[in-house]
Amino acid sequence: MTTPTGDPWLLTPGPLTTSAATKEAMLHDWGSRDAAFIEMNARVRRELLKIVSAEATHVCVPLQGSGTFAVEATLGTLIPKTGKALILVNGAYGHRMAKILRYAGRTAIVQETPEDTPPDITQLTAALDADKTITHVLTVHCETTSGILNPIEKIAEAVATHGRSLIIDAMSAFGAIAIDSRKIKFDAVMASSNKCLEGVPGIGFALIRKSVLEKCEGNAHALSLDLYDQWKAMEGNGQWRFTPPTHVIAAFDAAIQAFVAEGGQPGRFKRYSENCRLLIGSMRQLGFETLLTDTLQAPIIVTFKMPADSKFVFESFYDKLKDKGYVIYPGKLTVAPSFRIGCIGDLGKTEIEAALAAIRDVLTEMGVGTGRPAKAA
Ligand SMILES: *Cc1c(COP(=O)(O)O)cnc(C)c1O
Repeated sequence: MTTPTGDPWLLTPGPLTTSAATKEAMLHDWGSRDAAFIEMNARVRRELLKIVSAEATHVCVPLQGSGTFAVEATLGTLIPKTGKALILVNGAYGHRMAKILRYAGRTAIVQETPEDTPPDITQLTAALDADKTITHVLTVHCETTSGILNPIEKIAEAVATHGRSLIIDAMSAFGAIAIDSRKIKFDAVMASSNKCLEGVPGIGFALIRKSVLEKCEGNAHALSLDLYDQWKAMEGNGQWRFTPPTHVIAAFDAAIQAFVAEGGQPGRFKRYSENCRLLIGSMRQLGFETLLTDTLQAPIIVTFKMPADSKFVFESFYDKLKDKGYVIYPGKLTVAPSFRIGCIGDLGKTEIEAALAAIRDVLTEMGVGTGRPAKAA
C-alpha cells in the first residue's frame, strides 16, 4: 500500500509523510514582502510559542535550513566565546552538539552515558557543584539515535537549582511530547518543521527566552547563523533577513492548523503513542525485541535489535518493504546491531497495521521464522 500520492509511507524520523492539505499549501508563490506572507510567518511564530506556553517569556526565531542549522545557530548565539558548555550525550545528536561547539571554538565538556541509558542526574549535579565556570547545559529531549526519552524535567530542575542556562534539542519530540515553559525552565528549545509537527523540511526554529536573547548581540560566529540579528530584523519589519523559504512556511502554517485541530500536543501524543504501542506489540509477537524498555521509549521511533536468523539480511528486508510501500530506517547504534521504525507523520492505526502485514509477508518471503535477536553476550 502506498500513500494517496503513490509514494511509500515514511516510517522514519523525518522527513515524514505529510498530508495532502500540507502539500497543497505550497501551490502558490509569495513575495517576501507580501502582507499575506508576513502575516502567515507571524502566525507560525505565535503558534510555535503557544505549544510550550511561552508567549509571555520567549520569542520564536525561525531559520532557513534543516534542524542542525537551528541547533548550530542557537548554540553560537547563546553561548558567548567566554562561556563553557556541559553536554549530556547519549547518542548521535548529543555528539553533534559537541562537534558544533568544536567548530565554533567554544569550550565544552561531555557527560556521556550509553545509548540505552538516560543521563545521570547525580553526576550532572556533582559537575555543576564542582565547576562554577560551566555556563550552559545542553541536552536532547528524545535522542532519536535510539528513541530514548531523556528526563528533561529532572535535568531542568538540576540546572535551575545551580543557576545555569539550559538549552534543549527537542527536534524529534517537539509537538508530541509536552514541554511547558512554566514547569521546565529553559533558555532555548530547538526544533524543525519536518518532525512531529508534520511540515515539509526546510526550516528550524528556536524558542528563546527574550531576556537572554536581548543580551546576545555579537556572540554569533557566523552572520547567517546569528539568531540575535535574525530576531531583531524580523521584529523590526516582519521580514526575514535573507530569502525566506516561503513555500516551507506556507506548508508549516497548514501543518500547524492540522496540529491544532487534532488537539495540539496531547492529541498528537495520543495518536503517536497508539501507533507505537501497536507497532511494538505486534513486532514482539513476531519475536523482535526492542532496545529500550517501555518506560524509556518515546513514541517517536523504535529501535529493534537485529534478528539472529541468518536468513534475515537487513538490506533485503529494507528493499522488500520499500517495494511494498514502507520505508524504514537503518540503525545508528554502537551498543547493538539494530534497525529503526518510526511511528510519526501523517499516519495512524490503518497504516501501521498495513505496515505490520507487509513485515509479516516479507519475513515469510525471506524464510525468517522469528525476529528474535541473538542472546546478549
Ligand atoms: C532530526 C534531529 C536533528 C536535526 O537533524 P537535521 O537532519 O539537521 O534536520 C537534531 N537533533 C535531533 C534529536 C533530531 O532528531
